[in-house]
Amino acid sequence: MSQVDYIAPKEDHLMPRQLEEEDVNHFKSIVGESGVLTTDIEGYNTDWLGKYKGQSQLVLRPKNTQQISDILKHCNQRKLAVVPQAGNTGLVGGSVPVFDEIVLSTNLMNQIKSFDDVSGTLVCQSGCILEQLNEKVMEHGYIMPLDLAAKGSCQIGGNLATSAGGIRYLRYKSLHANVLGMEFVLPDGTIVDTLKSIRKDNTGYHLPHLMIGSEGTLGIITAVSMSVPSKPKSVNVVYLAVDSFEKIQLIYRAAKLHLGEILSAFEFFDAKCRDLVVKHGANDPLDQPYSFYLVIETHGSEGSHDQDKLSKFFEHVLEEQHATDGTMSTDETQAKALWRMRESISECLRREGGTRLYKYDVSMPLPIMYKLVSDTKERLGSEAQVFGFGHLGDDNLHLNIIIPENQLEMVDLIEPFVYEWTQQHNGSISAEHGVGMMKRDYLKFSQTEQSIQMMRLIKKAIDPNNIMNPYKMFTV
Ligand SMILES: Cc1cc2nc3c(=O)[nH]c(=O)nc-3n(C[C@H](O)[C@H](O)[C@H](O)COP(=O)(O)OP(=O)(O)OC[C@H]3O[C@@H](n4cnc5c(N)ncnc54)[C@H](O)[C@@H]3O)c2cc1C
Repeated sequence: MSQVDYIAPKEDHLMPRQLEEEDVNHFKSIVGESGVLTTDIEGYNTDWLGKYKGQSQLVLRPKNTQQISDILKHCNQRKLAVVPQAGNTGLVGGSVPVFDEIVLSTNLMNQIKSFDDVSGTLVCQSGCILEQLNEKVMEHGYIMPLDLAAKGSCQIGGNLATSAGGIRYLRYKSLHANVLGMEFVLPDGTIVDTLKSIRKDNTGYHLPHLMIGSEGTLGIITAVSMSVPSKPKSVNVVYLAVDSFEKIQLIYRAAKLHLGEILSAFEFFDAKCRDLVVKHGANDPLDQPYSFYLVIETHGSEGSHDQDKLSKFFEHVLEEQHATDGTMSTDETQAKALWRMRESISECLRREGGTRLYKYDVSMPLPIMYKLVSDTKERLGSEAQVFGFGHLGDDNLHLNIIIPENQLEMVDLIEPFVYEWTQQHNGSISAEHGVGMMKRDYLKFSQTEQSIQMMRLIKKAIDPNNIMNPYKMFTV
């Protein structure tokens, strides 16, 4: 089925109550006139890809936790459905309404509460933009453990709600590993405060972990306490051209062996992605096209030691003919330029494909990862454009397909094929983007019926009126 102009089935028992003028007046009494938007809200109704469009009449912009609590309390009493929205860069249609749910935007929840520069502990509101947080902690000699191409717009609350991965997951691990505590508001308005800044706390269920990846279906994350790593003194990047996916795996093995503890990112993309970014203005430092490319980064504490290691690794993979060509950055500007080849892929794909772009984010055992791209190409024929890139060090492939104009029926060849293929090869249909609206009906390809049933039980216990982001993740 096409996602373009997608009209979700309206399940009767989920139907939100009609919003009335009294409700809007009540919300104004909580957040003030300026916190209530009823016009020019098209942007809040449309996702980053322009594929999912809701018809919300109301956007609320609270500034603090108490306001969110008061809003949700009212929504719960009146059974008004709510979609939490942060930077609205999500890629699975989770952050926009399906029908006329109220959009609760965290754009104004952007205060940093504290930073401890001995332990590297950051406490902030959930609406802080990731890149701005990174700039702030850099002033103290730290970095955010998470980095992704949407960093200029996405917010830490949205990152937590999607359990975002990104390019440095390989080194700094998941948000589960970095979150120390959290404050969130339940659908009935209860404020749950677990905003501790201690590293060890084995007292009962670890509730923040339940909220990480909950995609706005259980409540609203209002603040977080996280441990952030020290800013590396030395950052180096190597860019390699490789002629087969088998050789990429040999290089990955060599990178782990030669670079060890300083390896911070291992990203790949294929020739199709390279041609696309070059078409859209990126500067490929290598002067001829190859089959595959790698961007490998190190974060370390001693420049000469790191460069020495990286140079030996670089020479090794060229001498062994694992890599065909390559270059190394010698300063920060060059490192950024090399990263641009990889980081601009998503934006170029959006520009090139518009609503004809279909994005799949899967993880699976490395040896068979690229076979999904080849099999998809074979299945769709030469008219479809099929791209493969991703976080190779995390077994995470981004399969992107641009279907030809006026051939929407081709989507039936892609779904559920991609999900079935992934299931058959013991993978996950969502490595990092989440489920949202896009994969709601395909959750069974990655989770057992018992697991989905347990998720439903948790959802019903916490949100019995199903006001939080209904229609997303699974059917209740
Ligand atoms: C160019 C680009 C590159 C990307 N690269 C990556 C990548 O490398 N790795 C990766 O993992 N993802 C990536 N993404 C997708 C990723 O999910 C988002 O960019 C990001 O994590 C979402 O944050 P956001 O603030 O935009 O959240 P939104 O899109 O606004 O929301 C995402 C979901 O979280 C819910 N939500 C938002 N805020 C809250 C809150 N405070 N409480 C409860 N629920 C909430 C929403 O309802 C929605 O379901 C990329 C996206 C783009 C556009």
